[in-house]
Amino acid sequence: MKQTLSRRSIVKTIGLVSILAPLSTLIDWSKAFAQAAAKQLIDLTGKKRKDPVNKAAIAIATGFSYISDAKKEKHVGGIEKASAKGTKFPVASQFCHNCQYAPEAQKTKDGYSCLLIANVLVHNDGWCKQWMPRQDA
Ligand code: SF4
Repeated sequence: MKQTLSRRSIVKTIGLVSILAPLSTLIDWSKAFAQAAAKQLIDLTGKKRKDPVNKAAIAIATGFSYISDAKKEKHVGGIEKASAKGTKFPVASQFCHNCQYAPEAQKTKDGYSCLLIANVLVHNDGWCKQWMPRQDA
């Protein structure tokens, strides 16, 4: 038996897909945001936070020469980098808030969720030598 799709059923299917696809993206973003919101800001001094999560994050951050305030502290090991579009980023313009490893979708009121330093938030004006410009920069 030959089955044919009616124009109406095709339009309905396309409509359903166009509603569900953005919805799943929205759900992914909200999950990522909820995970980021559950994280706490890294404490490099280890005085305010003595938990193992912070200790593990300090070990990684130290290896990357992370600093929590790149406006005041020295960028040890920093070099000028350029985006794919050719925009140059001198070391002084590099911060966690414009790093590709800190997606804007994972920004919280306290800081950013960094893809390289897991389970903690990094400071908005933080920096480390892994800094890379965002794709759209
Ligand atoms: S990788 Fe980027 S976001 Fe993560 S700590 Fe370094 S500069 Fe900040």
